[in-house]
Amino acid sequence: MVDDSKKAPFDSDQERTALQALFDVMPQLGWTAKANGDIDYYNRGWYDYTGKTFEELSGWGWKDVHDPAVLPAVMERWNESLATGTLFEMQFPLRRHDGEMRWFLTRISPMRDEQGDIVRWIGINTDIHDEKMATEQARALRTDQAARAEQERSKLEEARRAAEAANRAKDEFLAMLGHELRNPLAPMLTAIELQREKEPDITRERAIIERQVRHLKRMVDDLLDVSRIAQGKIELRTKRVLLSSVVESACEMVQPVLEAKKQALDARVDGPAIWLRADETRLVQVLTNLLTNASKYSPEGATVKVRASAESDSAKVTVGDEGIGIDPTLLPRVFDLFHQGTQGIARSRGGLGLGLAIVKSLVELHGGSAWATSEGAGKGSTFGFRVPRLSSTAARRTSVVDVASPYSAPLSVLLVDDNKDAVELLGMALAARGHQVAVEYDGLAGVARAEKDVPQVAILDIGLPGIDGNEMARRIRANGDLAGMVLIALTGYGQAEDRARAEAAGFDHFLVKPVELENLTALVSAAAARL
Ligand code: ADP
Repeated sequence: MVDDSKKAPFDSDQERTALQALFDVMPQLGWTAKANGDIDYYNRGWYDYTGKTFEELSGWGWKDVHDPAVLPAVMERWNESLATGTLFEMQFPLRRHDGEMRWFLTRISPMRDEQGDIVRWIGINTDIHDEKMATEQARALRTDQAARAEQERSKLEEARRAAEAANRAKDEFLAMLGHELRNPLAPMLTAIELQREKEPDITRERAIIERQVRHLKRMVDDLLDVSRIAQGKIELRTKRVLLSSVVESACEMVQPVLEAKKQALDARVDGPAIWLRADETRLVQVLTNLLTNASKYSPEGATVKVRASAESDSAKVTVGDEGIGIDPTLLPRVFDLFHQGTQGIARSRGGLGLGLAIVKSLVELHGGSAWATSEGAGKGSTFGFRVPRLSSTAARRTSVVDVASPYSAPLSVLLVDDNKDAVELLGMALAARGHQVAVEYDGLAGVARAEKDVPQVAILDIGLPGIDGNEMARRIRANGDLAGMVLIALTGYGQAEDRARAEAAGFDHFLVKPVELENLTALVSAAAARL
């Protein structure tokens, strides 16, 4: 029996007819070619699609239905298949009878005889135009969407960078503004304090000046605090602190404010001693802010209540008032920076809207939280905060406290500052306390004076003409003859890195302007106690 599968195609008319019938029913375009590539048969699909006759297509006539731009590549691949006898597969467009170019996937396979020689090629062109277009459209759409998303992303990124830069510029501006405003305030405050010491029966006008300058200083301090908080530059100086002493100090500080409005203060600290590890000055500032607000937003004659108590592992302080209260819709925003309730055009209550933002940040720096409650407008408000407290055993373990003993022996003090007003006033203040004071206005003259006089204490401004305060400190520390001199840095810049630089240069103490005379003279005395 003859094995039909091994036979070459078109061996009989019957086979040819069967194959042609198959070619004519399939949806693809199909054709056959001789071993040398001459096409000798096209199926019906080919005629229908191209609208051409066998004569027009025969030989190399089929090239006419190709895109001339793609044809050289098709020819190259087809010649390669003819030469090597390998399968041909490629996508290219073919022109329809109406002129439209549609994409086809073309596969051409060689048919071999028993010896393995190619006797014929069979080609099938499958119309893939619609799928290809859909895929390409989808890809284009995806690329387009990705490009647009990328564009959006980079626009947002750019906006974010611009906003961050603007915010940084604002913080830097606030820090610089605060610093510049502080400088003139320093000698003003010193002058007022000195005048009060000389003439205790202070006149009404001078009392007004003092009150206003202190108010100005408080606002500048708030401004600086806000910019430092925003720049993450606030550092807490924590130590063991008794909550009752925080309450006491804050109440003492706001007493004049309350008295001016004939308001009463009802303060109570419940239970046994409550110890905290906290920055006392900052906690007093928190409570003072809340008390000042309670007075400011309450009528004359009202009572402000302070309650402090211990909870399981925290301490809680509340300040309640009988004042204007807060609308419930505004409550969630009272701690926001620059937030202020409506004040009317006269802005009779003043303020910058910084106080509560500072309260919240300082309390959070202590690991605590702050809150506000109010029954509504006209019904008073209660502000409170909670900070972690020391357990009673921890409090006992660390119950030894350093108390600097005041020392008032006269000392020789060198003061160096290029702000003549400031330095002369400080000099007068120290001289008034019996110290012997020398004054210089620039760095080199300051070092020369230190070497000549060998003072016990030198108070040096950092920003100086010639050499700066840090360089002065380094030169003084390098001079063995000046060993033991107490060096105090005095500067308008209170950032942590300024402090670190001053310490590295050899300073013992660091004070930020404007310095309260009391603090400076106490520091000079305390420092001298160790001499
Ligand atoms: P300032 O008092 O400078 O406006 P604050 O940050 O201290 O800024 O307070 C923000 C706002 O919160 C105030 O403007 C005021 O509307 C409201 N507020 C603060 N404390 C009280 C209070 N005790 N009673 C009523 N409203 C208050």
